[in-house]
Amino acid sequence: MGSKQQRVIFLADCQSFYASVEKAAHPEYKDKPLVVAGDPARRSGIILAACPIAKDYGVTTAERLGESLSKCPELIIVKPRMQMYIDVSLRITEIYESFTDLVEPFSIDEQFLDVTNSVGMFGSPTEMAKQIQTQIKLATGVFSRVGISSTKMLAKMACDNFAKKNAEGIYMMPKETISEDLWKQPIEKMFGVGSRMKKHFFQLGIHSIGDLAQTPLPRLRSLLKAKFGKNADIHADLLWQTANGIDDSRVTPSTHRVAPKSIGHMMTLPRDYVTGEEIDTILLELTEEICRDARRKRYMGSTVTVGCMCSPFDAPTGFSRQMTMPDPTNNTDTVYKAARSLFYRFWDGMPVRRAGVTISGLVKDEEYQLTMFDNQERQRALEKATDYIKDRFGSAAIIRASSAGIAGQAQHRSLKIGGHYK
Ligand SMILES: [Mg+2]
Repeated sequence: MGSKQQRVIFLADCQSFYASVEKAAHPEYKDKPLVVAGDPARRSGIILAACPIAKDYGVTTAERLGESLSKCPELIIVKPRMQMYIDVSLRITEIYESFTDLVEPFSIDEQFLDVTNSVGMFGSPTEMAKQIQTQIKLATGVFSRVGISSTKMLAKMACDNFAKKNAEGIYMMPKETISEDLWKQPIEKMFGVGSRMKKHFFQLGIHSIGDLAQTPLPRLRSLLKAKFGKNADIHADLLWQTANGIDDSRVTPSTHRVAPKSIGHMMTLPRDYVTGEEIDTILLELTEEICRDARRKRYMGSTVTVGCMCSPFDAPTGFSRQMTMPDPTNNTDTVYKAARSLFYRFWDGMPVRRAGVTISGLVKDEEYQLTMFDNQERQRALEKATDYIKDRFGSAAIIRASSAGIAGQAQHRSLKIGGHYK
């Protein structure tokens, strides 16, 4: 799927996001240790964000306020202002969108950018990342870090493992050389691997990301199957692909924009189509195209409409008919079956000049956030495997891997509710 062109993907992350926004709003706290805490009035309140100075005192995100205060009694404690953070996050999105129109929020403070088509205008990827950093700093006071690679997953791991740890806050990690940096990282540094998963990998003799990448896939499948049961081989595939930098998922913009009413495509055929075989082919092509579009935009439709126009043009015949399906879907097979049965019910047998397929009654594709695989069955199976491992070993082990496709809905939800208020 897709072209073979090497993409240039950024994952840009905001350092200590809530705390940085508060510091920009309160210049008087500039050189003070500051935290944003869920309930500043209570020592049991949870730290949502700590500025780098507070972190130097050993204060960490998610610990209790009382604990932080014992490490740093002069801590400035601010209560969260989620709407403001959302506004700043959207402002940052606008800045990214001035560099490329392919911007996808991943969380309130992390966004993916596909800059393949625009990087040439800004010099090298690193130069471009520097310009982005400067603009964000000027506009919001926030320091951003940028991981650069050719896939979303590698860009994310480049950011988390390297860009966050160097002074420039930029790290370029080409897929061709991951054996020299990423593979040397311990296994728990891989996206999707939590502390529980780490323990299991250690028992299997897999200590580094490179160990995982270099385990032959069939062997990894059987190792994980032996440990977690038969559904685990799909999870094995996902982990192995992640370690090897294999990730075709696209940067999908505008998940927070106005929802479309329908997704459809109509095409004029190069000549009249008359045989069932020709018509099946064109219906399948149209269906494939709109379903792929729907999956990319993360919608499922419950109504299928099929239309055609038949020659001659001066006295055209034709029809447009729709039917409702039992469940919303963006599965090509399901939509194709519906489109085909509709078509043959209403077609009068005249030569076809134009044909179109549309799905409408769109709902958000909440259930299928895994863009690693275009195939829904595979996604379903993967979700089952993920749920199974989650149930047995706790969600921490896998929660990030399950959103490995890095979807629009999840991050949009967390954008709306601020992530921490669940
Ligand atoms: Mg951050």
